Amino acid sequence: MIRYGEIFLKSETVKRRYISIMTKNIGLALESEGLTHRIETYRGRIMIYGDEPHRIATAAAKTFGVVSTSVCTVTTADIEGLAATAVEHAERHLEPGMSFAVRARRSGVEGFSSQELAAAVGSAVLDRIPEARVDLTAPDYEIFVEAREYGGLVYDEKIPGPGGLPYGTQGEVMALLSEGIDSPVASWLMMRRGCLMVHVNMHGGRFGGADAKKNVLQNHARLSLWIPGHALDLLVVEMEPFFAAITALKEPRYRCVLCKRFMLRVASILAKERDAAALVSGDNLGQVASQTLANMAVIAPAATVPVLRPLIGLDKEEVVDRARAIGTFEAQPGKIGCTVAPRYPSTAAPAETILKLEEEIGAEGLAERAVGTVRRYRAKNGVVEKVG
Ligand code: ATP
Ligand code: MG
Repeated sequence: MIRYGEIFLKSETVKRRYISIMTKNIGLALESEGLTHRIETYRGRIMIYGDEPHRIATAAAKTFGVVSTSVCTVTTADIEGLAATAVEHAERHLEPGMSFAVRARRSGVEGFSSQELAAAVGSAVLDRIPEARVDLTAPDYEIFVEAREYGGLVYDEKIPGPGGLPYGTQGEVMALLSEGIDSPVASWLMMRRGCLMVHVNMHGGRFGGADAKKNVLQNHARLSLWIPGHALDLLVVEMEPFFAAITALKEPRYRCVLCKRFMLRVASILAKERDAAALVSGDNLGQVASQTLANMAVIAPAATVPVLRPLIGLDKEEVVDRARAIGTFEAQPGKIGCTVAPRYPSTAAPAETILKLEEEIGAEGLAERAVGTVRRYRAKNGVVEKVG
């Protein structure tokens, strides 16, 4: 059984479209794991039938839009059938001395109320395990019974899903993906929000860390595992000429602002080329010099499409926890430090100075050149290949 949350709040037409996209995504996830299955959608629920229900429930529970999944035993939609199956479940998990609760639901089935169903199932369980006791507020064990028009369902476990909206319901965005911790989380959050994703990375060449490229590809590959069966593209842009230009300037403290503006400038061109509606970055207020409010105000106008910053109000700890949970956290990332960043970067770069420096290095021409250097990688189910 697949449960979804927020999709419920949508109008009927939108709901139908979202559910159909989510169902396709679940199907792709199950196919990617080689799980044969049959998907049925009913009002408010999606049911998947197959021979390996635990693997199906676990794989489906990673799909964006899914709130939780449960492995159900299907029985007849009457008190006798549900009680007998519930007793079998309880015998496996409910030990003497433990407390339990029966949660009952009924829809499209007549002849008894859900309270009567809960009471009948509860006493059947107590008949079999008399040393157990009922506790409806904080039970050690919960058993769920549902009488539905398509059958009786019994389950006692919920596998949490990521929630969000189905992947592909919100149009395409382009995330600036680095070898670091933050940007993969930013990308994941926007994918979870339903955005089709494409990644762009700015490659530092001799100015970047030796392990940067490897780690970016790893972040990219790992993120693709969240959208099984879908291709996830990564565009890699060569930044070396730009870095050579800014390191030749006498004043090192504006480099980070110049760099971030350049990234947004180049990524905006690439986003427009493929009709991506927005950029996504892992900026987090106050984390580094380029992420002060003053510098962000100078950096943001370099973009010609909207920039989404889903991490802006999170604490570092929250971002790290999320990175661990989604599988992109790397405790030993190797050599990834930027060699261009100055020791004392300005936290409030004057806009006029920045524009003058950009004029001096010919930032616009450098950006056009950079766009011409794009190499493409495509990830699917965690495997990356170079495609151009
Ligand atoms: P991250 O861990 O995502 O690298 P950070 O805290 O190290 O973030 P910065 O490196 O200043 O902060 O980068 C801010 C944002 O700029 C990143 O989250 C990312 O979206 C983008 N960015 C930084 N470096 C690159 C890069 N080499 N290629 C593409 N985008 C980048
Ligand atoms: Mg970084």
